[in-house]
Amino acid sequence: MTDLLIIGADRAGEGPGDLAIRDGRFDDPADLGPDPQRIDAAGLVALPGLVDLHTHLREPGREDAETVATGTRAAARGGFTAVLAMANTDPVTDTAEAAEHLADIGWRDGDAQVVPVGAVSKGLDGVELAELGLMARSRAAVRVFSDDGHCVADGRLMRRALEYVRAFDGVVAQHAQDPKLAGPDACCHEGEISGKLGLPGWPAVAEASIVARDVQLAQLTRSRVHVCHVSTAETVDVIRWAKQRGIDVTAEVTPHHLLLTTSEVLGYDPTYKVNPPLRPDEHVVALRDGLSDGTIDAVGTDHAPHARHDKEHAFAEAASGMLGLETALAVVLETMINTGRFGWRELALRMSVVPAHIARLPDQGRPLTVGEPANVTLIDPNARALVDRDASASLARNNPWHGRDLPDPVVSTIWAGRITYSRP
Ligand SMILES: [Zn+2]
Repeated sequence: MTDLLIIGADRAGEGPGDLAIRDGRFDDPADLGPDPQRIDAAGLVALPGLVDLHTHLREPGREDAETVATGTRAAARGGFTAVLAMANTDPVTDTAEAAEHLADIGWRDGDAQVVPVGAVSKGLDGVELAELGLMARSRAAVRVFSDDGHCVADGRLMRRALEYVRAFDGVVAQHAQDPKLAGPDACCHEGEISGKLGLPGWPAVAEASIVARDVQLAQLTRSRVHVCHVSTAETVDVIRWAKQRGIDVTAEVTPHHLLLTTSEVLGYDPTYKVNPPLRPDEHVVALRDGLSDGTIDAVGTDHAPHARHDKEHAFAEAASGMLGLETALAVVLETMINTGRFGWRELALRMSVVPAHIARLPDQGRPLTVGEPANVTLIDPNARALVDRDASASLARNNPWHGRDLPDPVVSTIWAGRITYSRP
């Protein structure tokens, strides 16, 4: 691997300096070989490589929608050096063998670290616990467990999962959706627009009520719970309440819930069908407030690639989910940095340092200092572009930002000393 010398980057807002990289780690510039590859980074900001707590890679099983190779290429383009790969593949990641297999594909094909998420229940059936301990002790060292796509609705099963993961410092990541209040057909925020469009409603209470239960189970079991894709003001309130009581809860918000609202679905465009659904303005404001004050700990993309034939249906029948890895940083810049809610330090915390800590990844989210693993994202805070879904590295095209003017920040991504993306 060639030595790298990044010259003049502003290190997460701490002022300009040089970053030397040798053998996958930051090193003293004086210790580099005679002719390092030089990257002129004047005017750029260097962030620790971004970490996504919530990615769907679709491999194994749906390689027509995304593969580890294409999904992590999209991740690198988006500035990510690690992604947590959700368990709802085919087969489901619910055994040690499945987790190790996915991690191995990641090491072989990945342009970012692929960290398997283990299922909470066998086959995501919500009935019987999966092999949590075996997955934790496997080579994949699974620490995050989730039935994402499905809610662990059974309170007794959730309690047992929390008790179990505590032994190895794991965390249960909940897709909070009470299936009795918001069933499989629910696809639009329950309110004026769902009524007008005649779409089955997904009420805010179906999320907040599960989170209210889960934070109390986390308290009872003295274990860790993480709330996936928080989408409502009520959920932010519940998490704030729990944190004030010292309950070990963390939460993520998606880029799309920080910027898009229910009105996007007025044209019945299935691109905007996502679970949980887009919410009205007052929820978007509460989510931005929650991310600003740390009630919400992290941004998680919920990158959900779909093949055309699964997405191009009438709204009610189309698959739920949208792409997110390549545009996540752009949307967070637009909603949090450009509105003055965040500085670079907060951005680094919410998109790298804290997600790495939640997932217990020792080599990610580390400071940009000598001896640390060289995971770094160089960004141009002023560049903008129209998003073009056909320029995506993802195999899928369900991109809700197509045609939109957004920041275009990522100039270069370096994972473990290797350049995984460099803007042409
Ligand atoms: Zn989910």
